[in-house]
Amino acid sequence: MNESTRLIHAAAEPTSMPRVVNPPIQRGSTVLLPNAAALYDDDQITYGITGLASPAALQRALAEMEGASDVTLYPSGLAAITGALLAVLKAGDEILVVDSAYKPTRRFCDRVLTRFGVSTTYYDPALTTEGLMNLVTPRTRLILLETPGSLTFEMQDVPAIAAAAKARGVLTLIDNTWAAGLYFKPLAHGVTLSVQALTKYVGGHSDCFMGSVATTDPAVASQLGDAMWDLGWSVSADDAYTMLRGLRTLSTRLPRHHQNGLAVARWLQDRPEVARVLHPALPDDPGHALWSRDFTGACGLFGVVLKPSSQRAVYAFLDALKLFGLGFSWGGYESLAIHCDPQLKHRAIPVDLGGPLLRLHVGLEAVEDLQADLERGFAAWRSA
Ligand SMILES: *Cc1c(COP(=O)(O)O)cnc(C)c1O
Repeated sequence: MNESTRLIHAAAEPTSMPRVVNPPIQRGSTVLLPNAAALYDDDQITYGITGLASPAALQRALAEMEGASDVTLYPSGLAAITGALLAVLKAGDEILVVDSAYKPTRRFCDRVLTRFGVSTTYYDPALTTEGLMNLVTPRTRLILLETPGSLTFEMQDVPAIAAAAKARGVLTLIDNTWAAGLYFKPLAHGVTLSVQALTKYVGGHSDCFMGSVATTDPAVASQLGDAMWDLGWSVSADDAYTMLRGLRTLSTRLPRHHQNGLAVARWLQDRPEVARVLHPALPDDPGHALWSRDFTGACGLFGVVLKPSSQRAVYAFLDALKLFGLGFSWGGYESLAIHCDPQLKHRAIPVDLGGPLLRLHVGLEAVEDLQADLERGFAAWRSA
C-alpha cells in the first residue's frame, strides 16, 4: 500500500485499554460497526452524537443521584430546559411558568414557544397549590417550577403541586439547579422532569457548560431522546469528563457552600445597611418551613435587600469588593455578586422588596475574609 494509505490506517485497530479510575475521553463522530446489519440496528450506538464513554458514565452517575431511570445531557443548562420543553410540547398547548423562573427560560417561552403556538402564563410563586390549579385549563400541558425562585428565593410546595398536576394529567418540570441534585430530589417528590444546570455546582469550577434532564417516566424519556436526535444537539466527551470529575466531589463541596453561605447570610441580617436577607434556610424566611421539610441542605446562593439607596451607592458597594467577583453564573468554588434590579423589571407580577436587591454566591473561601470584603463594600456604600 502507499504511504498515505498506511499512515491513515496504521494503529487504527482498537487495543484493549488498562483499567483506570475514570472513563476514557473517547472522542468520536463516526462509530465503526461490526457488520452491515449493525449499521441500522437501533439497539446499538451507531453515531457519536449520542455520546460515547464519558457522557454515558456521567449519565449513569447522575441517574444514581436523581433516582432516575433516564438522564439526557444537553450542551448547557438552558438547553436542558428548552430541549425538554420542545420534546414534550406541541402547538396549542399552554404552560404555567413560575414568575421567579430563570430569566432566559422566560425569554425562550416569550420569543420561541409563542412562534410555535404554545402560550405561557406566569404565576405568582406565592400562590397556593389550589390557586395554581385554578389556572389549569384543558390546554395546560406542563407546569414549570423553580424553587427557591431565581433572585427572589421563594419556596413552593413541590410535592403538593406535583400530585395535583398529576391528577389532572399535567406534566411538571423543575429547575433544580439551586439544590444541585443533592439537597432536593424532585423525582422522589413526584415531579416528571428534573432539570439541572450542571454548569453550576456539578461542574463546580466555573469552566464548563452542560445541563441534564432526569425522569422516571419511560414515555417522556423516549420523547427526550427523540428530541435530541431531531434537534442535533450533543455534548463533548471532554466536557462530560469534566462534569463527572466535578460530580465526584459535589457532596464534599456543597456542605461547605451551605455553611459559608448561611454564616454570611446571618452576619448580613445583623448589618444596619441590610433590610432583608432572602435565604430559605434562615428560620425567619417565609419559605423556611417548606425548605426544612423537603430539602436536606442549602447551597451558597441567596439574595440581600439593601436599605433604600441610590444606584450609585449599589455600584460603589459592588465595585469595592475584591474577593467577590462581579459576574453571572455561580456554583464554582469562588464568591460572586451581582445587582438584580434590571432583571426584576421583566417579571409579570411586580416585585417590590423595598430596596435594591443583590445576589451573592458564597464560595469556599474563609467566612471572615468574605465578611471583611463585604465590610469594604458597605464602607463604599455609606460614603457614596
Ligand atoms: C445558570 C442557570 C441555568 C442555565 O445554565 P447554563 O448552563 O448557563 O445555560 C438554568 N437555570 C438556573 C436556575 C441557572 O442558574
